[in-house]
Amino acid sequence: MLKFLKQVTDYTKGAVDAARFIGQGLSVTFDHMQRRPVTVQYPYEKLIPSERYRGRIHFEFDKCISCEVCVRVCPINLPVVDWEFNKEAKKKKLKHYSIDFGVCIFCGNCVEYCPTNCLSMTEEYELAAYDRHELNYDNVALGRLPYKVTQDPMVTPLRELAYLPKGVMNPHDLPEGARRAGKLPEEILDEMKETQDGESEAASANAK
Ligand code: SF4
Ligand code: SF4
Repeated sequence: MLKFLKQVTDYTKGAVDAARFIGQGLSVTFDHMQRRPVTVQYPYEKLIPSERYRGRIHFEFDKCISCEVCVRVCPINLPVVDWEFNKEAKKKKLKHYSIDFGVCIFCGNCVEYCPTNCLSMTEEYELAAYDRHELNYDNVALGRLPYKVTQDPMVTPLRELAYLPKGVMNPHDLPEGARRAGKLPEEILDEMKETQDGESEAASANAK
């Protein structure tokens, strides 16, 4: 009799434990059902990078004056500027230019300090290659126009969290004209202008 009672107790305890564990598992599932879907069906869907995204560098050969400022400001002296001195014109002539994106840390220093603005950062982030040496881009590869997620007809562009209207957490099926969170650059400029105008008016009133 005692053995039977012990078996019943063990069985009941096991059933209660099983129910508790199932409940714990389902609570995690229900919790996730309340969350924002973060899955992007890459490569059919792609996130639009933010405005100041630091992606692959674009280089304009004709604007480069071979000054090598980009090399000096680079934390790892990465850009390779190959030039020769043109004795007749008495100035440097650029022969080749390259940046190895297998080593670059995309800090943007070279872009920031280039005196002729011939370097710019694009929103291109797909830089995977089978061979790391393929990531060493010469001036031809660097001069290629950047890929844009929004201009690719094969891709559904999704807005990144920073671009979603306030309170919206799902980047799928947004209406076309949905505004992004925060102020647009031109709105900030208008506000600054208004403040400046107000300040100058107050200053002129005080002077009178
Ligand atoms: S982005 Fe930074 S690390 Fe890359 S080449 Fe320019 S300065 Fe160097
Ligand atoms: S800083 Fe600009 S202009 Fe000077 S070498 Fe580098 S890319 Fe050319």
